[in-house]
Amino acid sequence: MVKAEGVHKSFGQIEVLKGIDLEVAPREVFCLIGPSGSGKSTFLRCINHLEKISAGRLYVDGELVGYRQKGDRLYELKDSEVALKRRDIGMVFQRFNLFPHMTAVENVMEAPVQVKGETRATARARALKLLDRVGLGDKAGNYPSQLSGGQQQRVAIARALAMDPKLMLFDEPTSALDPELVGDVLDVMRQLAEDGMTMVVVTHEMGFAREVGDALVFMDDGVVVESGHPRDVLTNPQHDRTKSFLSKVL
Ligand code: ATP
Ligand code: MG
Repeated sequence: MVKAEGVHKSFGQIEVLKGIDLEVAPREVFCLIGPSGSGKSTFLRCINHLEKISAGRLYVDGELVGYRQKGDRLYELKDSEVALKRRDIGMVFQRFNLFPHMTAVENVMEAPVQVKGETRATARARALKLLDRVGLGDKAGNYPSQLSGGQQQRVAIARALAMDPKLMLFDEPTSALDPELVGDVLDVMRQLAEDGMTMVVVTHEMGFAREVGDALVFMDDGVVVESGHPRDVLTNPQHDRTKSFLSKVL
C-alpha cells in the first residue's frame, strides 16, 4: 500500500529524511517510533502529499506520490491532481483540528459534502453511523468545545473515515490527551485495524504497537535504524540506538 525507496527530504540545507526504505502491506498496522526530530511526521506528510520528497521514490497504492512518470522522466503533479489523491488518505494529527463552529456531525459530513458533492442528507446519515462506530452516537450535536479531548479525537477519526480512505495515517494521535482518555481512542484504532484498514501510526504507545501492530520501524536521524515485528523489536532490539531509545520510553 505504501512503498518507499530511498526517500530523501530536505528543507533548504537540512536533510531530514536520508534514504527511507520501507513497505507497508495492505491491511497492515505499521507503527513508526523514534526520538523527537527523527523525521516521523515529515515522512507521514510526504505520504500524504503535504511535502514533496527531494529524491527517491514513494508510492501509495502503486502510484507515485507527487509525480507522474513518463518513460524515464518525472513530472510534478498539479495541485488539483495532488488534492484528488489526498482524498484517498485519511490523516489524524496530535491536535484534533476540528472546526470549532461546527457540531460533531457537521465536522464529519463537511468533506463528503464539500469535496465529493454528496447531498447533506446522505452525508449526515453516513456521519451519524461513523460517530456511532467511534462510540459517539449520542454526541452528534455537540460542538468540539463540549467534547473531551478523547472524544474530539474520535470525531477526527470519524471525519477522516467519512472520505472512505484506503489508508489512514496517525501522527501521535493520543499524545496530547490526558492519560485516562487515551484508551478510548486506542480502542477505536484497534477496531479499525480489526476491520482491515491499512494504517501507519506514529506513536509512543508501545503497548498498542505490541498488541495491534504488524510491523514496527524505529527511525532515528532520518534513517530506518531497525524494523521487524513489534514483539521482536520491542523485546529484543538489535541496535544500540534502539535499545537506548526503548530504555527511555518503556
Ligand atoms: P516529534 O517526535 O517531535 O514529532 P518527528 O520525528 O515527527 O519529531 P519531524 O517533525 O519530522 O520530526 O521533524 C524532523 C526535522 O525536520 C526537525 O529537525 C524539524 O525541525 C525539521 N523540519 C520539519 N518540518 C520542517 C519545515 N517545514 N522546515 C524546516 N525544517 C523542518
Ligand atoms: Mg512528529
